[in-house]
Amino acid sequence: MSIETVQRVLLVEDERTIRDAVAAYLEREGFWVTAVADGQAALDAAARKPFDLVVLDLNLPKVSGEEVCRVIRDTSDVPIIMLTAKGAEEERVRGFEMGADDYLVKPFSPRELVARVRALLRRAHADSDPQRARIEHEGLVIDLPSHKVNLDGRELDLTASEYKLLVTLSRYPGRVYPRMELVEKVLGYDFEGYERAVDSHVKNLRAKLDDDPREPRFIHTVTGVGYRFETRRGTGEATGS
Ligand code: CA
Repeated sequence: MSIETVQRVLLVEDERTIRDAVAAYLEREGFWVTAVADGQAALDAAARKPFDLVVLDLNLPKVSGEEVCRVIRDTSDVPIIMLTAKGAEEERVRGFEMGADDYLVKPFSPRELVARVRALLRRAHADSDPQRARIEHEGLVIDLPSHKVNLDGRELDLTASEYKLLVTLSRYPGRVYPRMELVEKVLGYDFEGYERAVDSHVKNLRAKLDDDPREPRFIHTVTGVGYRFETRRGTGEATGS
């Protein structure tokens, strides 16, 4: 991956062993890291200078990770990866509601974290590219101007909702979409009862993509949260054309 300028990461983690290990790993990968140990220090650091990405533990002293996320989101769309405890699904959902982009469950490997950081930075970059007219992932080609979807050279016949769902998920591979967010993005309304509608659309879309939920090629279920698009090669990469 080519990085024209050094990317700056704000790392917020109160557990020293994790903080030191993650900071060392990110630095070795060429990132410029500011590491802080509590929520107030994170807000102070974020107010002093802009960062390209934030790695944010949710359970923090002084100011909670959720509050840090909310305050940063008020003024910035910097990508945010949350670090959450195992099994803390409610925490995770609240984090997404506060505007986080992705999450990792502890314990995680630093390698996985770096892969997520890179994927998020790529997304942030791709998102600002107005020339982007195609989304391509391992045999799946979505032509945005014509709304045509091809899988392994065969054109798929998708409904408008299935198309929107596929574009939403595949535009940002690796990002987890809570059901409620998909309801809003795909169906355009926000009543809790409609979460089941998203599940039905996903089911139909999977059938058309010939995608087995137990061994997904594209669409993964994130238990208790929602869905994520990810190809077998990893987090994948959307290409411009
Ligand atoms: Ca913590």
